[in-house]
Amino acid sequence: MTAPVATGRVTEVTHPLVQHKLSYLRDKATPTVHFRKLANELTLLLTYEATKELPTETVEIDTPLERMPAQRISGKKVAVCPVLRAGIGMLDGVLSLVSSARVGFIGMYRDENTLEPVEYYVKLPQDVAERDVILLDPMLATGNSTAHAVQLVKDAGASSVRLLAIIAAPEGIENIQRSHPDVQIVVAAIDRGLNERGYIVPGLGDAGDRLYGTK
Ligand code: URA
Repeated sequence: MTAPVATGRVTEVTHPLVQHKLSYLRDKATPTVHFRKLANELTLLLTYEATKELPTETVEIDTPLERMPAQRISGKKVAVCPVLRAGIGMLDGVLSLVSSARVGFIGMYRDENTLEPVEYYVKLPQDVAERDVILLDPMLATGNSTAHAVQLVKDAGASSVRLLAIIAAPEGIENIQRSHPDVQIVVAAIDRGLNERGYIVPGLGDAGDRLYGTK
């Protein structure tokens, strides 16, 4: 297995399966139906990486043959919070591994002129303060809306936040590291930068449009 590249609190998952799937996700010829499936498969693989340091405890179990000590995840339960709308395209990927997680929704869009986040709907689990939060935002571009979403879950009491993004721009990573240095970021790729419209280049285009076929 190729070792992920971890820099500070940022991990770029270089595993061949991740990079293979990402190449299809980026390709403009990939249709919506495959894009959706790939986004969830990639998220599942990012979740595997992002959860590798969850604490475990020893429990005694009985196999059909004998009693043995085994490891189970202990500590806080998980709240997965997709940032609407593109984050929804990653949700099933997390839930297929962490099926008991609660789900919170953060409705936010980016004003195309100011590139600043505009919040329009927020519904978080009531006990989000007692949970490990996994925030989903596939494209970490300027990082403004993601930083806003992180602040929102922290304001609700969350003290442990992980961010899963499929592609990040260096600008977005710097933004999160500056505003929320405690947040662990896991991505499939860190791209060159942003174009004049705030899109990640080379990127994959508008993740929402590609997920939902709206363009
Ligand atoms: N949002 C997207 O969907 N794509 C980008 O490249 C940047 C932000």
